[in-house]
Amino acid sequence: MLTVPGSCWLCQMPLALSGWGVCSVCTRSLVGRIATCPQCGLPATNPVLPCGRCLKKSPPWSALVAVDDYVPPLSRLIHALKFSGQSSLARPLARLLLLAVLQARRHRGLPKIDRVVNVPLFRRRHWRRGYNQSDLICRPLARWLGCRYDASALTRVHATAIQHQLSARLRKRNLKNAFRLELPVDGLHIAIVDDVVTTGSTVAELSRLLLRSGAASVQVWCLCRTL
Ligand SMILES: [Zn+2]
Ligand SMILES: [Zn+2]
Repeated sequence: MLTVPGSCWLCQMPLALSGWGVCSVCTRSLVGRIATCPQCGLPATNPVLPCGRCLKKSPPWSALVAVDDYVPPLSRLIHALKFSGQSSLARPLARLLLLAVLQARRHRGLPKIDRVVNVPLFRRRHWRRGYNQSDLICRPLARWLGCRYDASALTRVHATAIQHQLSARLRKRNLKNAFRLELPVDGLHIAIVDDVVTTGSTVAELSRLLLRSGAASVQVWCLCRTL
């Protein structure tokens, strides 16, 4: 995926501010396109109240913010960031997530948070790629929101198998005790940032760990929620 510097990654039109990466027209068509449940992030008719699934059995996190479903064009940009070494895409993607968070604050009263944490990659996978994509998204995001970001707040204790190749039961077992919290989070409102949330089992495990360790609340922020 190539783009001319100063033009939109999606429609190639010239940008008013070259650092934005995605123009305002493409941004408007992406952010908040689908009505989803404010807690689980799955499609719902009411974007303000928790859906029936959440009323029956709510996820451990209190709110989920996503830019869009995992479909083109957003999925193409994420794929280029993760697998084609296009790390310059991190900032434009972080900006899309920022806009989704600000929109959720405006429209559904999403509370402010104290700290952003990222989903840790196992060290070997990190080496192979040279960077952790959610880390690259967290840095500018935390700066723009004026909250703290600790890149090493969460660590992976052992290599977990690639989650999407496992059944739900194996996925759960694979994640049990897979993470460790390295910093005190007592009384803090935390946002976990991930690129793509699919089943939600990884962020659920991290949310439980943070809440067990005294966090006041946990939100999940992701570029895509697979719907
Ligand atoms: Zn555009
Ligand atoms: Zn829900």
